Order: sequence, then structure tokens, then C-alpha cells
Amino acid sequence: MTPPKEDVEPREIAEFRREVRAWMEAHKPPDPGFKLPQSFLEVESERQFDFLRNWQRKVYEAGYLGLDWPAEYGGRGDALKRQRVVSQELTRAGAPFLVNVIGLQWAGPTILVYGTDAQKKRMLQPILSAEEIWCQGFSEPGSGSDLASAQARAEKQPDGSYRVTGHKVWTTLAHHAKWMILLARTDPNAGKYEGLSFFLFPMDVPGVTVQPLIKMTGEGGFNQVIFDSAPMPADALLGKEGQGWQVALTTLLYERGAAEGSGGGQASASGEGIRRVVSVARRAARENGSAAADPVFRDRMAQLWIEEEALRLSAMRMRIPALTADRPHALQLMNKLVFSEYYQRLTDLACEMLGPDGALWLGEPSAPDRAEWPRAYMNSFGMTIGGGTSEILRNILGERVLGLPKTR
Ligand SMILES: Cc1cc2nc3c(=O)[nH]c(=O)nc-3n(C[C@H](O)[C@H](O)[C@H](O)COP(=O)(O)OP(=O)(O)OC[C@H]3O[C@@H](n4cnc5c(N)ncnc54)[C@H](O)[C@@H]3O)c2cc1C
Repeated sequence: MTPPKEDVEPREIAEFRREVRAWMEAHKPPDPGFKLPQSFLEVESERQFDFLRNWQRKVYEAGYLGLDWPAEYGGRGDALKRQRVVSQELTRAGAPFLVNVIGLQWAGPTILVYGTDAQKKRMLQPILSAEEIWCQGFSEPGSGSDLASAQARAEKQPDGSYRVTGHKVWTTLAHHAKWMILLARTDPNAGKYEGLSFFLFPMDVPGVTVQPLIKMTGEGGFNQVIFDSAPMPADALLGKEGQGWQVALTTLLYERGAAEGSGGGQASASGEGIRRVVSVARRAARENGSAAADPVFRDRMAQLWIEEEALRLSAMRMRIPALTADRPHALQLMNKLVFSEYYQRLTDLACEMLGPDGALWLGEPSAPDRAEWPRAYMNSFGMTIGGGTSEILRNILGERVLGLPKTR
């Protein structure tokens, strides 16, 4: 199998890509000698966090982050929309991911839409430099898919400030975060949607308890957060009181890919996944050679390659307004759904081809690729849940894009 041809790009984009590629090769940090997380969803220890934070700072200082954000808020005001090139080259180089994903891709873009000038000036630059890490306090034990039923309370005080009481769960990165984008109920007597407001909550106030949760991989990375009358200043409100649902929907669109690569995160489909699985196939021994010679595995790899290429082309389509104007965000939602399920089958195939070796776990010296594949397979289930489950995305696509009757 040969990789797909490079796309023809405008000259200034191609030049920029060459520049970024050279920079990545020269500055990509060497293996730190300890286990790194596979994504921002499982950052545990201080040393993992420091390593990743330093890397993001380096990328920012080199001028490769916040390209699309206004210069007055720490960005570069780049009209050419070149941030996605950086995302793609990060993935291509096998460089560490940028740890402040929630800040870069969800909180930051939402603040750019709804923030006051003071909020933008205060919040945005430290997101880019990774000086201040963000987490997202949306889900609650009784409110996940039905997010609008969130019950955490933000009670207004006579001086205009708020006190927060409630329980958020699955809060990725809360243990390293300085800020949380928080969805909380300001008016319990208003309707489900109208009673919600959106806040930029400071995590370092009294009355906040962060408790780690362990995943099936044995790793941490997310938490539950308990608020016990935690104080929050009046200017933590983003948008207007009662506008929280509308603001949260904007965040969810970004979370599901509306600003593809805008903050410099992982490129959704870069061609790297299938190439790496082909490399596994070539190394996985079989009686008569390697798994790469097995016709059934070859067929599955070809199918995944086709899907990966379709995802890549879809990501290109997203950037052509004439192709998306009639159904804004449909492609992003579809790509989130398809990519997360494709990735699960990709990692499943790698484990299957590795056979019994695919069961060797982290820390086992003979584990192929340091047990990356079984770990990725287990982590892939979170990807089909976080940011909206596959079932919910199918409902949204069915109802709002295809115009099918509502489920309820
Ligand atoms: C790795 C990971 C990281 C996460 N990080 C964060 C974070 O940082 N911040 C945060 O706020 N949240 C986070 N979440 C939470 C995530 O947003 C929720 O888990 C998700 O929205 C689903 O909610 P739930 O877990 O309550 O499941 P439920 O909503 O209880 O759903 C249970 C099952 O029922 C199905 N279901 C529910 N309603 C319907 C329906 N109407 N039609 C069809 N099927 C339905 C769902 O698809 C699912 O299979 C994270 C989750 C994961 C897995």
C-alpha cells in the first residue's frame, strides 16, 4: 500500500508547512524516559504535566499557536487560517500533544465569541502559553446526554457575586486546572434551558474538592468535582445570565470539531493511524510470514484506509463555505461520530493482529510499541462517549441534518 499523494496547496501554505515541519523535527522533545499519556484525557502525574506544559509553551513561543486568534489577545491574527497546518504537522512528527486542549479548542473559542474585552484580555493569552490550564464542568451524575438538566447551583449574592454548590463528574484535567468552564443553574424556577448560565470559574477558591477517578486502563486523568458554597466573582459570568444553554451549545460545537485545528490540537485524520497499523501488521509474526500477508487483515486495513482518507477529505470540505453553507456543522458532527468509531476499529485491529502479544501491558518490556495498542483500544471507548455519545450524535444528525422525525 502506498500513502495518498500530498494535496496541492497554495504556495504560502506549502511554504509554511515546510517551515513548521523543519521546526518540529529540530525541536520535538526527546523521549522523557517515563510513561506519557496518549491524550489529554489521561494526564496524571506532575512530571507528565510539566513535560507537556513545557512543550506547549515552546510551540507557542515559536509562534505556532493562536495563529487564528486576534493579536491583541496573544494570538497572531493570521488571515490564512494556518493553525490546522500546525496541528497536522504535530501529528505527523509524532510530537507530544498540546496539553491545554480544553482551553485551546473549547473555552478559548467560546470566550472569543461571548467574552467581554476584559475577559478576553485576561483569559486568552495564558491559554495559549499553557500557563493556565482549563477544564470543563458540564456533566453531572444525573446529567450527561441530557446536559440541560444540570442541577449545580450558582446562587447570586447581594453584591452580585455567586456561590456554587453541586457536583460535576468526568471532569478531565480538573486536577491541573486553574479555570473551569462551568454550566450552572442560576434560576431554579425558570425553564430547564432558561435557568442555566455559563461561568469562567476559578478552581483555586475555597469549597472546591477535586477527586480523581480511575479508568479501566488503571490510569487517572479525570475527576469528580464537588462544590460546597464555592465563591465566584460577578465577572465570572460569560454572556448574560440565563444565556448559559446557548453559550454551552457553542462550546459543544467546538468540542465536536467546529474549529478544526483552531487551537493547535490533534488533526482529526492525518493518515498516520493506518500507516502505523500497517507497520504493526508487518511486524506481527504469523506462521507463513507476517499479518500483512493475511488476506482478511489486508482487507480490513484497506477498508480503514479508505475511511481515513474519506475523513481527511471531509475535513477539507469543511473549509469550503459553499459546500457547507446549507448545513453548517453537519460535517463536523459526522466526523466526530465517524472518527471515534473508526479509531475504535483501528486499534481493535492492531490488537488482533498482535495476537497474545497484544495483551502485554504497560511496563512489560516485551510489549509491542510499549503496550500502546491495547491502551489505545481501551481509551477509544471514551472517545465514543465524551463530547456527545455516538447515539446522541446519530440523533442530532438524523433529526437536524436529515430531517427525520424527532425521537421525543
Ligand atoms: C473520556 C471522557 C472524558 C470526559 N470529559 C468530560 C469533561 O471534561 N467534562 C464534562 O463535563 N464531561 C466529560 N465527559 C462526560 C461526557 O460528556 C458524558 O459521559 C456524555 O455526555 C454521556 O453522558 P453520561 O455519561 O451521563 O451517559 P448517559 O447520558 O447516562 O447515557 C447512557 C447511555 O444512554 C444513551 N442515551 C442517552 N440518551 C439517549 C437518547 N436520547 N437517545 C439514544 N441514546 C441515549 C447514551 O448514548 C449512552 O449510551 C467525559 C466523558 C468521557 C468518556
